[in-house]
Amino acid sequence: MERTFIMVKPDGVRRGLVGEILRRFEDKGLRVVGLKMVVPSRDLAEKHYGVHRDKPFFNDVVEFITSGPVVALVLEGPDAIALTRAMMGKTRPTEAAPGTIRGDYANSTEQNLVHGSDSPETASEEIELWFRTEELLSEA
Ligand code: ADP
Ligand code: MG
Repeated sequence: MERTFIMVKPDGVRRGLVGEILRRFEDKGLRVVGLKMVVPSRDLAEKHYGVHRDKPFFNDVVEFITSGPVVALVLEGPDAIALTRAMMGKTRPTEAAPGTIRGDYANSTEQNLVHGSDSPETASEEIELWFRTEELLSEA
């Protein structure tokens, strides 16, 4: 069993795709163990995208992610990290395969609807950054 941090980004919320995105994950068998809607603060967004601090797109992506409400999720299931990454599709819309969330709905590298942790280390860091322990269902 593995847990991962997933976020429906502001474009996904604005476009009314929260239900569609969550439905795909639930239909695949992943269990929702944490869920909340928040407008991320600049501090939270900068911490979340901290690994990209030196990239040219850092400021833009922080602006974007703080531009409106996001839906923050913790999903649980076997291989949840690799599974959700596969279901999300590649970062760029030209590379995201049809059938993936980004492949079916995204048309922008920045505004690509969904975030998902990419390793067990980032999953634990991101879950801790976005949720308090008491906001998550306990194990089992
Ligand atoms: P992923 O979300 O697929 O893990 P990255 O970790 O590389 O992708 O990038 C984090 C986020 O930053 C992307 O999802 C996207 O919103 C934004 N981003 C990445 N690369 C670019 C870029 N070249 N131009 C604009 N935004 C970008
Ligand atoms: Mg990433």
